[in-house]
Amino acid sequence: MNEYDSSRIRSALGMELTDDPKEADVVIVNTCAIREKADQKALSSLGRFKHLKLRKPNAIIGVGGCVAQLYGERLLDHMPHLDIVFGTRNIPMLPELISQVQREKRRGVETSFDVEEIFDVEPYHEAGKVTAFVSVQQGCNKTCAYCIVPSVRGKEVNRPLSDILREATNLVQKGVKEITLIGQTVNSWKSDGYRFGDLLRTVSDIEGLLRIRFTTSYPRDITKKLIDALRDIPKVCHHIHLPVQSGSNRVLKMMGRTYTREWYIETVSRLRDAVPDIAITTDIIVGFPGESEEDFKDTMKLLRDVEFDGTFSFKFSSRPGTPAAEFSDTVADEVAARRLFELQEFQREITVKKNMSRVGQIEEVLVEGESKNSTNWVSGRTTHNRIVNFPGTGELKGNLVNVKITEGFQNSLRGRLIENLMEVNHVS
Ligand code: SAH
Repeated sequence: MNEYDSSRIRSALGMELTDDPKEADVVIVNTCAIREKADQKALSSLGRFKHLKLRKPNAIIGVGGCVAQLYGERLLDHMPHLDIVFGTRNIPMLPELISQVQREKRRGVETSFDVEEIFDVEPYHEAGKVTAFVSVQQGCNKTCAYCIVPSVRGKEVNRPLSDILREATNLVQKGVKEITLIGQTVNSWKSDGYRFGDLLRTVSDIEGLLRIRFTTSYPRDITKKLIDALRDIPKVCHHIHLPVQSGSNRVLKMMGRTYTREWYIETVSRLRDAVPDIAITTDIIVGFPGESEEDFKDTMKLLRDVEFDGTFSFKFSSRPGTPAAEFSDTVADEVAARRLFELQEFQREITVKKNMSRVGQIEEVLVEGESKNSTNWVSGRTTHNRIVNFPGTGELKGNLVNVKITEGFQNSLRGRLIENLMEVNHVS
């Protein structure tokens, strides 16, 4: 979402990008407030532009995103070198704020949620890029006790189908082959009587588009229509990111997650019955206030029972204004750190095992471009969202190709191109 918003900021500015801050006329720091660490990082990164402002007083320094939304005007009080603060729904107002600073030498703050066209300003798209995000929703209507998103991104607003289709079609005309629909709880999307499953179907009708992904799904918003769409629409990738957060019913209840461990496992079974090879990834928080050793063991057991393809896991971070910030019985940092380490080690084993199990298989890979570290190698993803590197040239970019997997690692697979499927029989 932040990457998407940064691209929107770039397009709102309509300026040339520079890697060298000393050359910049405008510096915008887009920020994340999800955990304290991200929040601090944002503030310290802003601090770094103090010197730039001293040397170049006409340079405009701005801050946007969730940290800007959270602290608002106070940021201007604390940072005399800062010119602009704009919130999560105010990207379209950026040009106006900039000209206000230039014309009137007046610092600007805009953090109102009361904005009519919050999806205005489509993201900048880098020429030749094969994949793109399309936002279908802003804000969030859930009430998870730990989460700051609803307060910094506001209530859920769903983007109309026609807008989504227009943006997606434009991207495909520019050469995009894979679109990831994004939203805080993307599968709760609904608009004009359409539900998320209908959205997947409609987007899949775009000619020239090869693949559709979506993230992040909220477990309780998994519907039969969505499961059918995953099973029946060939362009929809066989991967779902389905944050569970904890394997303990007691903790899930305190978190306000509205489902139980049993209900979650049942949902995973429904998904796997319909789409047997589906990859399922998740998010976990350890050290939530009141989480006991028993609760943590329940989470570890859930990891063992479900065998996720991957997890993103975090230590609980207390966020201002959230209910959990007031909860007593906090977990000591060393305890949370140890639990996080144990969990990540355990998941690492599962991920490696799953990746190794692909060796010998032929996977369909959408080539995204040259590999990061080696020339004459290209990189792409499988339908399950696994990264695959294999020898090849940039000409393959944007193509769906068959790759025989030869090695499996923790974060990626390695393979070799199968020129045509006749060779498969020959090889095996
Ligand atoms: N609705 C978005 C939220 C993104 S936050 C989505 O589901 O993608 C991504 C993950 O960060 C959450 O799933 C959760 O595991 C974690 N997270 C959120 N708030 C947190 C907090 N206060 N402390 C630690 N981790 C948190």
